[in-house]
Amino acid sequence: MDLKYTRKNVFKEADGKQLQEIYNYAEGYKQFLNVSKTERDAAVAAQKLAEERGFLPYTFGEKLKAGDKRYYINRRKNVFLIQVGTQNVEEDGIRIMVAHVDSPRLDLKPNPVYEDSGLCYFKTHYYGGIKKYQWTAIPLALHGVVMLPGGKCVEVCVGEDECDPVFYITDILPHLGQEQAAKPLAKAITGENLNAVIGGLPAIGDEEDKEAVKSAILNLLNKKYGMTEVDFQCSELCLVPAGKARDVGFDASLIMAYGHDDKVCAYPEMTALFESENSPHTIVSVFADKEEVGSDGTTGAQSHVVGDIITAIANSLGADPISTRYNSKCISADVTAGYDPEYASAYEKRNSTYIHCGAAVSKYTGSRGKSGSNDASAEFMGWLRDIFDQNGVYWQTGELGAVDAGGGGTVAKYIANLGIDTVDVGVPVLSMHAPYELISKADVYSLYKACLAFCK
Ligand code: MN
Ligand code: MN
Repeated sequence: MDLKYTRKNVFKEADGKQLQEIYNYAEGYKQFLNVSKTERDAAVAAQKLAEERGFLPYTFGEKLKAGDKRYYINRRKNVFLIQVGTQNVEEDGIRIMVAHVDSPRLDLKPNPVYEDSGLCYFKTHYYGGIKKYQWTAIPLALHGVVMLPGGKCVEVCVGEDECDPVFYITDILPHLGQEQAAKPLAKAITGENLNAVIGGLPAIGDEEDKEAVKSAILNLLNKKYGMTEVDFQCSELCLVPAGKARDVGFDASLIMAYGHDDKVCAYPEMTALFESENSPHTIVSVFADKEEVGSDGTTGAQSHVVGDIITAIANSLGADPISTRYNSKCISADVTAGYDPEYASAYEKRNSTYIHCGAAVSKYTGSRGKSGSNDASAEFMGWLRDIFDQNGVYWQTGELGAVDAGGGGTVAKYIANLGIDTVDVGVPVLSMHAPYELISKADVYSLYKACLAFCK
């Protein structure tokens, strides 16, 4: 009997077969990441994967029965995958897993296009918590939709194909950057500095045109998308880091990519649901939107939609919705800050999560004395520990950084506020919210195994 607790490195514990499974699982995850840069992209990817597995669209009011597999996509950004089990949901509740599929990025302003000194630009307004200096001098891709007059929705994706052009935010050269270099990091690049170059070829023929590059760009956009400048006001377009997820290290044990937060949890919860066809439980996997800006609005985890879906499932099975809700359990699947020895002072070593050490359980998050946190009960932690240990899940626990180093929150409290036992379980990330974040293949696989155990 081990009297002392020691964190285990998954790669040291895994046998050859498990190691192969870990690396294989990572390939599927990278494919999902590459097509899921925004919440709209992730919703399309999830729908496709669900339909391949026999899921059908869910409509409110429809009668459900054991074995049914349904998806509900709320406003093209917020996905609910529903699998109905054989247990009575009134007593057994629903096993709920919630991850978010929005990631920090640069949204275009409503009037984004301008020309200055021979170049044409997009003005942006950042979305979520970013370190602004990290977004200059990297390749950016444009994703989103534009509504044309009359209701036609045009899809835009430029910069992901090898042959596509990308977009680019300039930085000052070090030779002339003395003034900038003397500023604190947070002020060296401002939000209003984040303007992306979108072209430089002037329209010819009209000598009077003072914005000939802008005219030429608008002409290109009109030809390709049928849009005019005013249509930007009815669009959702954002700039995200261009390119695909890449393996990191000679041993390829890690993955560098945009948007691990929180697709690194969305993919495991979704695939775990897909692999739980024989589970007696009713299982719901949620992809939430707007987590990076507070989970508000029609597609965020604070929306009534989450509770309404639970009520609708209970009603359709002839169960009491309140009992169903109160007996439900939830994994709030979100990333946490893995211990980074390069920035050791921001962490408390004994209560951090570590890369390669498995699924990261956070009993609470929050800041300034756990404020704004869901603090999972000892009873629920004990229940979860037993199912993880019985199913050979590699897991660890830790806080998001040292006390008063900062802090953060997840969707956990919004689900818990519905009367549902909830705990954060995710993946430790290095360089969280950077254009390219770093995770371990062992940890994304461990979260998958944790979600499988939760669904079993
Ligand atoms: Mn997150
Ligand atoms: Mn985040």
